[in-house]
Amino acid sequence: MAVLPILKYPDPRLKKKSRPVTEFNEELKNLARDMAETMLAAPGAGLAAPQVGENIRLIVIAGAENDEEFDERYLVLVNPVITRSAGEQTYDEGCLSVTDLNERVIRALEVEVEAQDLEGKPFRLSAEGRRAVILQHETDHLDGVLFLDRISGLKRDIYKRKLKKALKDGDDD
Ligand code: ZN
Repeated sequence: MAVLPILKYPDPRLKKKSRPVTEFNEELKNLARDMAETMLAAPGAGLAAPQVGENIRLIVIAGAENDEEFDERYLVLVNPVITRSAGEQTYDEGCLSVTDLNERVIRALEVEVEAQDLEGKPFRLSAEGRRAVILQHETDHLDGVLFLDRISGLKRDIYKRKLKKALKDGDDD
């Protein structure tokens, strides 16, 4: 297991659409394990493969199937697709790839997701509330969409300006 470096916005690799996983091999399992370790170490509630520079449709989320308590357990979803969504909620989101920003994002309240496990076996997952947000947020990453893309243009511009200044000033503040 290894903690992987997480790409940070505005890295252009975060904007790319990821390709489906077709081979359920040892390499995939190792990547999923490393991603889980990276997520738990951060700590974060979810992580998508493109955030660690792998352009494939693979996400991990914290917690067991029916329990989103934050602990050592996690779920792996390969080729996840949101097949149903209902309702609406506003949630304060952050992202391991977007430094120092939390913003309210409007999401579906409930989702149903179809995915495959690490052996390629299909399964279905229903979620609501926070976990539904996490699933939508991580699935977005696979299409090159960041939560930044879902906030108002004004808030995004303010953040971009702040980030630009921080990058110029270095990390000495
Ligand atoms: Zn994210």
